[in-house]
Amino acid sequence: MRLSELGEFGLIDRIAKSAGATGARVICGIGDDCAVIESGAAGTALLVTTDLLIEGIHFRRETTAPRLLGRKILAANLSDVAAMGGAPHAFTVSLAAPRDLPVEWVEAVYEGIGERAAEAAACLVGGDTAASPGPIAISVTLLGECPTEEVIYRRGARPGDAIFVTGSPGESAAGLALLAAESAGNLDTAALSPEARADFDHLRSRHLDPEPRLHAGRALAARRRATALIDLSDGVAADLAHVLTRSDVGARLQAERLPLSGALCRACEHLALDPIDLALGGGEDYELLFSAGADLDEKVLSHALGLAVTRIGVITDRAGELLVLDPSGRERPLRQPGFEHFRP
Ligand SMILES: [Mg+2]
Repeated sequence: MRLSELGEFGLIDRIAKSAGATGARVICGIGDDCAVIESGAAGTALLVTTDLLIEGIHFRRETTAPRLLGRKILAANLSDVAAMGGAPHAFTVSLAAPRDLPVEWVEAVYEGIGERAAEAAACLVGGDTAASPGPIAISVTLLGECPTEEVIYRRGARPGDAIFVTGSPGESAAGLALLAAESAGNLDTAALSPEARADFDHLRSRHLDPEPRLHAGRALAARRRATALIDLSDGVAADLAHVLTRSDVGARLQAERLPLSGALCRACEHLALDPIDLALGGGEDYELLFSAGADLDEKVLSHALGLAVTRIGVITDRAGELLVLDPSGRERPLRQPGFEHFRP
């Protein structure tokens, strides 16, 4: 069988079964945003996450500012630590690059990584470099920490819990769509009104320079109210589906409760896209999605987390079933798989 038939998630399942191990000090292995390992310090767990970016798959050299690429790869790792409720600590960066790559390009990537690291109080402590016969590859492995009792997994959602999301999902996908329209010559940014221009700048930066929700993740863990937590890398539908699988539950979302931002709605009108589709199916928002007791107050929580928190649905006992209630009142199954590697 070829990888294109197996798909990314099929491959991960196989690796987990054949090579994944659960030693005495492994609290949680393959299958969550981070692995969780006993740190040796009593009451503190070590979090481990890694990410790999490949030129031509995740980015194109011609259209990517290397400093922003550096900021974004570290942000994706920081977001996974946030998605366990942890705080970042130290990380390594490995780089494979063709011999003719300008040194300035590499330096700009590390400059971006350094900026994000300083903002998150994480330290670059090592890595590896190698020549690549083809595309550039950059990998970050990040270590974080969390009080063991406060770590929030994907597996804890219970029927009757409410589902919450931070910020405004869909904005990153709208930014990507605007960038694509611009580079295809279908969007004349010079002709935009100042308001539309501001929307465009906001959405573009949400896509190119996403903000990991570290403070919110830590605050959520410290309050010990969330039952399951994940970050939105593949979209509300696909990431919620991971929570449902790990928790063996279902969910019903209310489309009209999705926190669609004004900028998202205006851009979607311009591009003839459905903002609900982008909010549910768009990736790389790096917001947090979590379940918690239905009595949790959105306003109190928004204040504690320092960003908007919106209740968007409820966990059900119908394992694996993900339904969305449209604004028209129609209920439909939500089958929107996020991006999967190796698929044709
Ligand atoms: Mg994640």
